[in-house]
Formats: sequence, C-alpha cells, structure tokens
Amino acid sequence: MNDSTESKDLTLEQIHNFKGAYPKQLWSLFMVEMWERFCFYGMRGVLAIFMVDQLLLSDKDSNLKYGAIQAFVYAFTFIGGIFADKILGFKKSLTFGAIMMILGNLLIAANPHDFFYFGIALTIIGTGFFKPNISSMVGSLYAEDDPRRDAGFGLFYSGINVGALLGGIVCVWLGKGHSWNLAFLAAAVVMVIGLLMFLFVKKQMGPIGDSPLLHLAPSKKLWREIAVYAGALVSIPLIFIMISNTQYTDIFMAVIGPLALIYFFIQLTKYDLKAKKQLIAALILIFFSILFFAIFEQAGGSLALFANSNLKHDILSVPLDPNMVNNSANSLFVIVFAPLLGILWVAMAKKKIEPNTVIKFGLGFLVLALAYYIFYSLRFFADAQGMTSLEIFAIAYFVVTLSELCLSPIGLSMITKLSPKNLAGMMMGLWFLASAYGQYLAGLIGASMSTTDESASLTTKLLSYTDGYLQLAFYALGAGVLLILVSPFIKKLMQGVK
Ligand code: GLN
Repeated sequence: MNDSTESKDLTLEQIHNFKGAYPKQLWSLFMVEMWERFCFYGMRGVLAIFMVDQLLLSDKDSNLKYGAIQAFVYAFTFIGGIFADKILGFKKSLTFGAIMMILGNLLIAANPHDFFYFGIALTIIGTGFFKPNISSMVGSLYAEDDPRRDAGFGLFYSGINVGALLGGIVCVWLGKGHSWNLAFLAAAVVMVIGLLMFLFVKKQMGPIGDSPLLHLAPSKKLWREIAVYAGALVSIPLIFIMISNTQYTDIFMAVIGPLALIYFFIQLTKYDLKAKKQLIAALILIFFSILFFAIFEQAGGSLALFANSNLKHDILSVPLDPNMVNNSANSLFVIVFAPLLGILWVAMAKKKIEPNTVIKFGLGFLVLALAYYIFYSLRFFADAQGMTSLEIFAIAYFVVTLSELCLSPIGLSMITKLSPKNLAGMMMGLWFLASAYGQYLAGLIGASMSTTDESASLTTKLLSYTDGYLQLAFYALGAGVLLILVSPFIKKLMQGVK
C-alpha cells in the first residue's frame, strides 16, 4: 500500500466542496459500514443463544458473558482509535480491523465449539480497529464549519441500521434454523464483501485516512506498523483470558476508563486553549452519553425479557412475535427517520434555527424520558393476567428511536467537529468507550429490575419492570433538564462549533 500515490488523485478541498446534501464518498462509507454492522450484529444476535446451546452456559452466565463481550468490543475502540491516529491512519486500521473480523468469524464457523473464544477475541480487536475509524472518516469528508455534517452522520447511521437489521435476521435465522457454523460463516462472508468494497472505494477518499507517518522513511514506518499488528496479535491470549472469566471484566472496566481519562488529560496538555476547551466540551458530552446508553441499551436485556414474558402477540390483531418487534423496530425506525431528520436539520440550518449540538443532546434525553414513561405506562394497558399491549410497546420504540437520533449520530458528528485532526481516532474511541460503560451499566440496571423470584406472577413481573422504567424516565428527564440548563456553558467551551 503506497499512501502517497493514493492521495494524488483527489485533494481534501475537492472532497469538501461537494454539491448537494451529501458527499458521494458518504455513500461508499455507508455501504462498507453496512456490511461491517451486518457482520457485527449478526454475530451479536446469535451470541447469547449460542453460548447456552453450544457452550452449555446457564442463562445467567450467558447473559453475563454477553455483557462482557459487548463491553470489550466497544472498549477496544479506544485502543484502535489511538493506533490509527499515531501510526496506521484510518485506511490501514479499517483494512486490518476487517481482516481480523473475517478471521474471527471464520474460526468460529470452522469449529464453533473449540474456537469460540479465539474467534471472539479476534472480533473484538477487529471492531476496535474498524468501528471508530470509519466514523472519523465520515467526519473528514466535511469542511470544518459545513452545516451538512449532522445530516451526513444521520444518513450514515441509517446504513448502520440496515446492516444491523439484516445481520440480526439472517444470522439468527441461519443459526437457529440451520447451523451455528453457517451463521458465523455468513458474518465472515459479508465482512469480506465490506472489505473488498472498501479497498475498491478507498481511492475516492483522497488523502483522508492516510498514514500520519508519511514523513518518515518507509522502512521506519513499516516497522511501526508491523509492531502494531504484532501487538494486536499478542494481546489475543490476554483478551481470551479476560472474556472466558467474567470476573476479569469488572477489573478491566474499572481500569480502562481511568486509564483512558489519564491518557486524555496528558494529550490535552499538548494543545492550545481553544482546542483544550473544545476537547473538554466533548468529554462532558461523552460522560452524558454513558447514561444515555445505559438506559437505551435496556433493549438487549430487560426489554427483551419483558417482551418475552409480558407482551401480547399481535399488533392491531395481526399476529407478531414481541421479541421480533423488540429486536427490529428500532433499526426499522432509524432507517426511515434518520434521513428525514437529517433533511430537517439542513432545512433548519438554512433558516438559522437549527438547535445546536448540546440542545440536541438535551432533547435526546427529554425524548428518551418520554419513551421510558410510555414503557412505564404499559402497566395501565395490561389485562388481568399481566399481559400488555404490543402496539404501545412499538410506539415507545418509535419514541426511543427519535431520542437516539438526537444523540447518537449527533455525538459522532460532534466528536469529529471538536477533535483536532491527530486526536480524532482517540476521541471517537472515547465516545465508544462511553458506550461500553453504558452497555455495562445497562446490564447491571437490567438485572436489578428483574424479579429474583422465577415463579413470580406475570403481574408482579409487569410491575417490577415498569417501576424500573419509570425510574429510568426520571433519570433521563433529569439529565435532559441539566444539559439544557448548562448548555450556554458547554456552548462557550465549544468555541463557535455548533
Ligand atoms: N447502534 C449504533 C452502532 O451500532 C451505536 C452504537 C453505540 O454507540 N453503542 O453503531
């Protein structure tokens, strides 16, 4: 790979000066990320059931391990981001990450029983190198003050969810109906498509994502790259040990966050006052996102269990599995509404009435509060047996999705606006590390919400879950109000970034 010849064709300026709502490169990254998320959510969709079926784990252990793997996957994005900034650049990080994800899934496909943990360790490394860096590349397609950026991330987010939806459906169908080997093989195959597509469209990216070490002698640069690849491979056994013993996850999560913060503050000293303020603003919003994802990610845990036990099996008399609604409603709504909201943001920007990032975050929390209030209100629609309305549940998911769209793609966009170029990967990693903590907390919250008594009546379960959702609604409301109150202060820190 020769970065300097790659960059000759298109200049950054040419890329930034695109006409219309979206740069054409965004569609390419949309497709690549779609395949990656297909692979990721396909693997994730079968994970918990697979561990019960093949590794003979109990439901509880399988849930704990699922949570640990999720936390690791997102925590490694911080490391992947740093190595992209310092050594590999986004293009090579993506390529390496994709190869690791392919190998990981192929290993499990070859022998799900024996190679499971090795395969997962490779997937964790792969996602770490891939996920934050493709998001940073999207941000690089825009000039610093381009008002079309949030809309671009909205569209990109749609792609994420097309992949998530398809992956969840196809891999679960293959795994449950045919064989686990096939489910993991499908995840590997789609990632091969994603990688080939990326290699094909890489040229359109011009200098975006080239190695930061182009000024070094090629041999020096090569050795550093090899060191990163070797380091990643050497860490496989370590990750293997940590995911096979869940108690290590707690230690890992207790250590990685503080370490990341120390690293962040060390980096901060290297920048001028303006950049420092912007990075602190990003950090504050990143902290808020932990709470958001802790509430939002009830989807994979408590809401799935709740759907399983307390929801009726029809929408307006059309038979429908409540867990199918739980697993796919959010993605479907994102696919449809993310581009629409994007168009709304651009239109508002033209009239100069677009809410700024902090207010969008605040709105995200307020809407999340409303969504969880609707989940709570399900108790008022229940019959004598404790079974309640799938229609209201679906409406709550629609509202959850609106809240997600005010915060998650906007968060990606915000990171790319507030980070200096050579810290973009690390900051994106920090954003996803917050998601890792969100997922981790989500598991703890979910566990505290379920009744310990297995034989509890459905009505008791209904009351226990919905009580929990009301509490979460209050937390979200508090965070939303707080954010809107402190928004002038954070806006000041953002130094003119909207
Ligand atoms: N659902 C989004 C994605 O898969 C957001 C993930 C997250 O930040 N936790 O990219």
